[in-house]
Amino acid sequence: MIKAVVGANWGDEGKGKITDMLAQKADIIVRFQGGANAGHTIVNNYGKFALHTLPSGVFYDHTTSIIGNGVALNIPVLKKEVDDITSKGVPMPKILISDRAQMVMPYHILFDQYEEERLGGRSFGSTKSGIAPFYSDKYAKTGFQVNELFHEETLREKLKNTCEVKNVLLEHLYHKPLLDPETLFEELMTWREMVAPFVCDVSAYLWKALKEGKEILLEGQLGSMKDPDHGIYPMVTSSSTLAGYGAVGAGVPPYEIKEIITVTKAYSSAVGAGAFVSELFGDEAEELRRRGGDGGEYGATTGRPRRVGWYDCVASRYGCRIQGTTDVAFTVLDVLGYLDEIPVCVAYDIDGEITTEFPTTGLLEKARPVYETLPGWKCEIRGIRKYEDLPENCRKYIEFIEEKIGFPITMISNGPGRDDIIYREK
Ligand code: GDP
Repeated sequence: MIKAVVGANWGDEGKGKITDMLAQKADIIVRFQGGANAGHTIVNNYGKFALHTLPSGVFYDHTTSIIGNGVALNIPVLKKEVDDITSKGVPMPKILISDRAQMVMPYHILFDQYEEERLGGRSFGSTKSGIAPFYSDKYAKTGFQVNELFHEETLREKLKNTCEVKNVLLEHLYHKPLLDPETLFEELMTWREMVAPFVCDVSAYLWKALKEGKEILLEGQLGSMKDPDHGIYPMVTSSSTLAGYGAVGAGVPPYEIKEIITVTKAYSSAVGAGAFVSELFGDEAEELRRRGGDGGEYGATTGRPRRVGWYDCVASRYGCRIQGTTDVAFTVLDVLGYLDEIPVCVAYDIDGEITTEFPTTGLLEKARPVYETLPGWKCEIRGIRKYEDLPENCRKYIEFIEEKIGFPITMISNGPGRDDIIYREK
């Protein structure tokens, strides 16, 4: 059977920790979308790691870690991550890479940078990892699948054609150095060496694993708000962040995804531009940012300070629904212990109309938060393992949000470690 771990919000909800925790009982962990533009932070016995490409199961020796066909595969980043974890004492993980995964090419990263430069103040706040140019090429059918590395003649030919087209833009739009197909070819040959031992038919492997009764985790990146269809377009990412896309991006039957665990953080945070209705500013924001996550709310990939705000029930209810949530994991609750009272955004006011339905982007830009304020619990809740042992106001906070979002909170994370978790019956 398959479980998916996905985000309800803007990413950074703590999916890495939940995946790492669930991976203790899983056989296979699959990344099915996105690229090295976002990261998961994981704290375990080996130390603290920021993973961008490797699935969060790489720290166990009983799991197989898979890069599915839906991923934007950055081969040098993957190699660097493998080297990094193994140099810190983690045993070499079992990794498989889909022969249909496409590669982030060196020019995708350049185009991402050049386009952000060109846009200046109108930019999307890209992490400049090449993700948007990568997916543009994928859907324009000019991308490169990993299996193409093994067919030298056709690869050479295709690179020549690609450079011809790219060079027109480089010369006339961006005024930057031109690409040379032969240099690219040589680089790709070094990439081939890096991935050759891992490349296989992943969907066939997963099909067989399912027949054998193996447990598979699909690990999502970012969250519902960043989905190109259902999120805050155009301030979204370029591949679907939804559990449903897991079937496509891993190559598994949709009906096998039995559990969809949607992760949502006890307050909000976001990176990059875009509407953020319950955003906080000034000292209040600075304090939450400093105390947030595990060592502050700063991007795992970029180190950028994250925007922070109060919990948004409108966005989260929608975010959970669009994921097809069966279980909610409510994370980073321990951080809120310093507050006397905690505002929660329960509705949006759009031009005087109050709504709890998440609107399209134009209306979202106009939305003002409607808050209800709950009393804080004013104590440390890390270390607590039973729901009944949480302070009453803390339980009330959880139950209030559960009621507003309409999906059962069955896991509560009260610290970054694997064991900092409280399970709750549905
Ligand atoms: P992801 O991309 O969804 O995996 O989220 P990130 O890894 O970017 O952000 C989550 C951050 O919060 C990481 O630094 C985690 O170690 C940390 N974290 C996860 N769960 C908890 C929790 O319950 N409490 C605290 N204090 N930190 C947590």
